[in-house]
Amino acid sequence: MSLQGRNALVTGGSRGIGRAICLELARQGANVAVNYAGNAQAAEETAAACRELGVQAVTIRADVADAAACEAMVKEVISSFGSLHILVNNAGITRDNLSISEADFDAVLDTNLKGAFCCCKAAYRPMMRQRYGRIINMSSVVGLRGNAGQANYSASKAGLIGLTKSLAKELAARKVTVNAVAPGFIDTDMTAVLPEAAKKALLKTIPMARLGQPEDVARAVAFFAADETAYVTGQVLCVDGGMAV
Ligand code: NAP
Repeated sequence: MSLQGRNALVTGGSRGIGRAICLELARQGANVAVNYAGNAQAAEETAAACRELGVQAVTIRADVADAAACEAMVKEVISSFGSLHILVNNAGITRDNLSISEADFDAVLDTNLKGAFCCCKAAYRPMMRQRYGRIINMSSVVGLRGNAGQANYSASKAGLIGLTKSLAKELAARKVTVNAVAPGFIDTDMTAVLPEAAKKALLKTIPMARLGQPEDVARAVAFFAADETAYVTGQVLCVDGGMAV
């Protein structure tokens, strides 16, 4: 599969899963805009690694929870590359607690769910006009199954599945597909902070008995981004070593 000539925006592309997605899309020939929240150095490293693969890459600092910033970001991508074909809503945060404060509920919903909505809203009109688009939302197995201590995060990830399915129906006629990837337990900064006991307990719930790598998730994103999957929309693909089975 080739993404030669395609232009992509990956939110939260500076680190972890987002960085692996940027690199996989670049490897397949897409130009990549690397969005980040505050870590400019990591974003630059991702962009530089993409350029080494022979594509154009830019970095864009923007808080996805800010609708105006998302509008401006999509405009910047289109002015840099000429068009936007692939939007990957990957940016996400956790604020885990068994008793979640209103502030932590709002912060997680604003970034994970409203952030994806704002980026979709900014991107789908130009995608509809060009009769081509691929939107891929980063959900999670906990959005399907729930998880103690992650009521805010699980709600945001379940919400992303509703957003994915609704937009899939709304945009299908204009040849814009909308799908979601639901990773399990992936080896990134987000999971590195978990206590050892929690990691051991989580590993016991994975039939493959290992953490996933960011590249495992990136390949699933590239599947949905491909021209060859034009007839696949509204789907949720788990990349979780069998965790959600
Ligand atoms: P990570 O290593 O913590 O990286 C998070 C990324 O999101 C960073 O690039 C960060 O930018 C960016 N970000 C955070 N808040 C943002 C905001 N308001 N606006 C723009 N960018 C923002 O996380 P990860 O593990 O790679 O996770 C990536 C996605 O996969 C998330 O949606 C996460 O919920 C989902 N996921 C992860 C796992 C897992 O096990 N790791 C499992 C299921 C789903 P800076 O570098 O600038 O801070």
